[in-house]
Amino acid sequence: MKSTAMQIRHTEVVNDLLLIKWSDDHESIISLKTLRDNCPCANCAGETDVLGNVYIGPPQLKTQDSYLLSGLEVIGYYALRPIWKDGHDSGIYTLDRLKELAAAETP
Ligand SMILES: [Zn+2]
Repeated sequence: MKSTAMQIRHTEVVNDLLLIKWSDDHESIISLKTLRDNCPCANCAGETDVLGNVYIGPPQLKTQDSYLLSGLEVIGYYALRPIWKDGHDSGIYTLDRLKELAAAETP
């Protein structure tokens, strides 16, 4: 069995930032705005069919609540699912994706 290299040890929301502490004691910081704007769910990011056409759902009207978290769910050892205050909760972020987003935040 392949062992998972990286796991989430702890998450914390500070103001408008999500702090993730990894199992190797590194920390990642992602702004909630970046997180929400990069929502990977089929409605936000679109779904690609076999011909390569991308289908994206109707744009959601984002409010202030769209960038506030009401909860965070760690899914197994591989993903994180934020529950946004506006009720959106279908985006599942893999740990690799979270690392990418955090790296993009760093100036
Ligand atoms: Zn979404």
